[in-house]
Amino acid sequence: MSPLHSASSTEPRTVDQDAQPRIVRTVAGVREELRSARAAGLSVGLVPTMGALHDGHLSLIEAARQRCDVVVVSVFVNPTQFDEQADLLAYPRNEERDAALARQAGADVLFIPAASEIYRTGFSSTVEVHGLTDRLEGAVRGKGHFRGVSTVVCKLLNIVSPDIAYFGRKDAQQAAVIRRMVADLDIQTQIETMPTVREPDGLAMSSRNARLAPAERERALALHAGLRAAERLAAEGERCCARLIEEAERTMASYAVRPEYVALVEPDSFEDLERLDAAGLLLIAARVGQTRLIDNLALWATNRSPLH
Ligand code: AMP
Repeated sequence: MSPLHSASSTEPRTVDQDAQPRIVRTVAGVREELRSARAAGLSVGLVPTMGALHDGHLSLIEAARQRCDVVVVSVFVNPTQFDEQADLLAYPRNEERDAALARQAGADVLFIPAASEIYRTGFSSTVEVHGLTDRLEGAVRGKGHFRGVSTVVCKLLNIVSPDIAYFGRKDAQQAAVIRRMVADLDIQTQIETMPTVREPDGLAMSSRNARLAPAERERALALHAGLRAAERLAAEGERCCARLIEEAERTMASYAVRPEYVALVEPDSFEDLERLDAAGLLLIAARVGQTRLIDNLALWATNRSPLH
């Protein structure tokens, strides 16, 4: 079985150690690496990640491979977007494994900068998207989280100048913030968002899942179960968002998981919806033990099949 198609990210992966993309650690190195591609008029795709690659990341790299001539994957555990030092320190890192998996999924260049390369001495600029960042992840994790995300993604887009950059819908609010930033700042990169890749039992793949103890891994199903319960109720014709949210919360409680938030929002503005009259995005965040997880699902007022 190819590593991309292993049934579960918890299974050991076969990693072909010979398949290594070119690893570049400096901004100048990336630009040098892409110079001839640009001169030849080749298209460039970028997949920004924090490493600890799983099938969710690899689906983004595969999508970039299909459309772009050159695929750059960045691996950077961005310190400025972490609201908890313990979370930053515990974040899994495995460069060799990431390099082999990225190569097998189709990456040509792996950009792995040190924090000092991204935040050089005297660094004092930030990029901030207002409004959209006030609530949900922005409210729970603090203003600095999305400021850190938008600043680093803006830098990566400036460093690589990709034609297309790929993001996952699992981090739906992040993707919306980046779309807003790119539109507001006239950044010439097309933003593509890709469906959430899940474990066979529905748990959204995440680098943080590895931290779940076996009993917590069971309880982590609360997020997906909550989303699906609300989806079922919507399919039966329930349009009241408060009731749909309540259904998700009740289902999560049966897994002994209390959400940090459950919200049903308009998918572009992230404003709360009162009634599900068209498309809505149901978002959940919860802590399972020490591990913070997020997930979301597109809901429809009609019987259209869900986006992901
Ligand atoms: P991260 O390394 O967690 O910062 O994620 C890097 C990119 O991968 C982001 O655009 C995420 O939204 C995306 N991503 C993370 N998990 C998944 C998943 N399960 N399915 C699809 N994309 C994902």
